[in-house]
This record gives sequence, structure tokens and C-alpha cells, in this order.
Amino acid sequence: MPSAQPAASNKALARVDVDGHDLPPSPAPSSPQVGRRRYALATELVYTETKDQYGASSIPIYQSATFKQTSSNGGSEYDYTRSGNPTRTHLERHLAKIMNATRALAVSSGMGALDVISRLLRPGDEVITGDDLYGGTNRLLTYLKNNQGVVVHHVDTTDVDRVRAVLNDKTAMVLLETPTNPLIKIVDISTIARAAHDANPKALVVVDNTMLSPMLCNPLDLGADVVYESGTKYLSGHHDIMAGVIACADPELADKMYFTINATGCGLSPNDSFLLMRGVKTLAIRMEKQQANAQRIAEFLESHGFKVRYPGLKSHPQYDLHWSIARGAGAVLSFETGDVTLSERIVEAARLWGISVSFGCVNSLISMPCRMSHASIDAKTRAERQMPEDIIRLCVGIEDVNDLIDDLTRALVQAGAVTLTIDDFHANGASSGTSEEDSATASASASA
Ligand SMILES: *Cc1c(COP(=O)(O)O)cnc(C)c1O
Repeated sequence: MPSAQPAASNKALARVDVDGHDLPPSPAPSSPQVGRRRYALATELVYTETKDQYGASSIPIYQSATFKQTSSNGGSEYDYTRSGNPTRTHLERHLAKIMNATRALAVSSGMGALDVISRLLRPGDEVITGDDLYGGTNRLLTYLKNNQGVVVHHVDTTDVDRVRAVLNDKTAMVLLETPTNPLIKIVDISTIARAAHDANPKALVVVDNTMLSPMLCNPLDLGADVVYESGTKYLSGHHDIMAGVIACADPELADKMYFTINATGCGLSPNDSFLLMRGVKTLAIRMEKQQANAQRIAEFLESHGFKVRYPGLKSHPQYDLHWSIARGAGAVLSFETGDVTLSERIVEAARLWGISVSFGCVNSLISMPCRMSHASIDAKTRAERQMPEDIIRLCVGIEDVNDLIDDLTRALVQAGAVTLTIDDFHANGASSGTSEEDSATASASASA
């Protein structure tokens, strides 16, 4: 009988927490003041707020592909990790805050970020970009040119007039990178952004900010529409994950890029989102130490007569321009020795400096771009771009700077690039407790 059943059910349910008062609140990760900065960057980098049910100071890794729904039509904030995941959302809100953006999106690599951005382009669209770009950026743009009907103009973006000369009403994107690497040329983001928007108000100015990070530069404040970074470098800082970050001010643009991320499935995994969040918290202290070390090393090399490219040196031809757009010089520099085999000997003699591509890690790296990261660019093009074959790139880490200078000194002496006097050696290495053995090695090589 229908009327008897409810009474029977009520009895059976008497000991159940029907209203859910005994349940813990579900965790809703968030950061304070989405998209707006309240404290100095060093403070905001470490300051997060979560509504985690246990008050966890580090947002948990939601290692889950699916999320239970509250009703048959969904109704929960998350349903499937390709579309969204609490650990990723927490990271994205934190990144939006430190990048001065309305919204940030975290994807599986820096190139993944550029892929998402480049899907805003249509056949016939024109892209203007530099001639000294990150190799992977070149490769993706060449693919779009050959397969998607996108017109790509490579010009020297350090010269605003060269950019102006190719700007027109079909310009859909201007893609900039500063400083370039390994030539460390500076690009005037603000002036180019104004010129691009004058030529075509719909043109998107996109900046690859990997070399400077949000610690040193906020391209959105300089007139860029979209900024992206490889999270593999300074943002994570330990070379233990691949990640990419995209940020912008226009919510509609963010929605379009989110559509691509959800459609293609390149959102950053929960575990890597956790690691990137962890890395970002120490960005300020790492970058401060890395660039202080880089400055000392640049000055050391310059004082020994090498041609050094570093925006922290007054001798950099675009010193003033760099400091008008950035708050620091970064931690990547390059220098020339005048001889390719000499450069090879220096790189191979270094012990503390690991021979590796990439940068932004806590440990220092040394490389010969023309042999390694830029080897895919043919020798003729390298020559046209005035890329010296003997150029050595240093990506400076957080080690004791005297140890770094000692090791470099020993490598320079062993390679025969400099002759060392005992006075030089004490000036450079005395404070770091250099061992007798190392002194002996250096002297022996110098006299050999
Ligand atoms: C490393 C790097 C990229 C690509 O990032 P991945 O995370 O390696 O895909 C893009 N631009 C610059 C300047 C880079 O250094």
C-alpha cells in the first residue's frame, strides 16, 4: 500500500545524516584576488589560500580522471580531468595572479602552449616574428606555413621599422621573444604592440616570456594580448617536469584557448600541476640568486677581454631598452672566444657546469648553441643571422658564485683561452676555499 511505505522508510533512515551536516566540506581550491595583485610579487608567489577540508598548506594532487556528479545532468564543478581538475585550477588561478592576467591556462609544455595559441590562426592569416627564435618555435611556425596556409614573416624584431614594413591589415599575430637566445638581443615590446594594433586592431601581440619569467617582466602590462612561457624553465626551476603556461586579459580569448585545450587534451596533468605550483613558490629567491651570479660571471668574463652578451652589462647595446621593459637581467648570457675549437675545449673542460641544452634550472649549464640547441638551423642561415659559431651560452644556477667562477677559470686556462697569473687566481678564487690541488692544476695548465 502506497501510504504505508514512507513511514517504514523514515524509521529505517533515522540514524543517517540526511542533511549532510557531518560531512566535511568539499575542497574548493582558490587563490586570493584572482587576476589582481595585492602584495609584492615575492609575497604573492608564496601566498595561496585554499578551502581544503583539512587546511592543507599545499593543494593535494587530485589524481583522478573522473569526478562524481550530484545529479543526472552533472551539476559538479569538475567532471573529467581533460576538461578541468582542482589541482590544475589552483595552479592556473595562482599563475593568473602573478602574471597580471585575467586567466591563465596550464598545458603540457611550452610548445603545447604555442600550439594552442597558434590555433587561433586561419589560412591566409599573416604572422610577423623574429629571425632569432627558439628552435621549436621556428619548427612549429614552419609547419603552419607549409601545411595550414599561414603566411610567416621572419624579420629582425629588434628593429621596429622592419616590423612596421611588414605590418598590414592581414597581420593576425605578432610573435615576440626577448631577450633572444643565444644572441641576447632585446625587443621593444611596447612600441611594436602599439604599431601592430594601429595597423590592425584585431592583431594579437603574443610574447614568449620564458627567458625573463613573471618575476622580471609582465608583457601584458606592456601592451601584449597573450603571454606564454615554458614552465619547464624558471617557473618550475628544477628540470623535473615539462609544462607550458598561457595568460591573457581578454576572457573571450581565454575561452577560445580553453576550448582547444579541452578539445585536444593538452591540459597539464594533476601531478605536474602540483610540481609546477611547488616550483613557482621559490621563483623569486631562485631568480634573484641566479641573476646575481650571472652578473658576477658576466663581469668576470668581460674583465678578461671576452665579448659578453648580457643585459646586465652597460656594454650591452640595448641596455636602456632592456631595463625599460624588465626588472632584471635574467640568468642567461653568452660569450665569444674567437675560435670554435677553443670554445669546444672550454665547454668540455668545465666540471661544475653541466653540458646541456635548456636553462632556468637551479644548477648551472654550459653549451655551444651552434652545435647543440641551434644545430637544426643550417650553417648558411646561422651566418646570415650573424650567429657566431664559437658562441658559448651560460645558464647560471644558484651555486656559490666563487665555485662557478673557479670552475670557469680552470676550464678557460686548461683550454688555453687565458693565461692565469697567481694574482688573478687569488682574486677570483681565494674566498671560496679553493683546494691546493685545483690551484696546482690551474698553474700547470697555464704554463703548459
Ligand atoms: C624551452 C623554450 C620553449 C619551449 O618550451 P618546452 O617546455 O620545452 O616545450 C619555448 N620558448 C623558449 C624561449 C624556450 O626556452
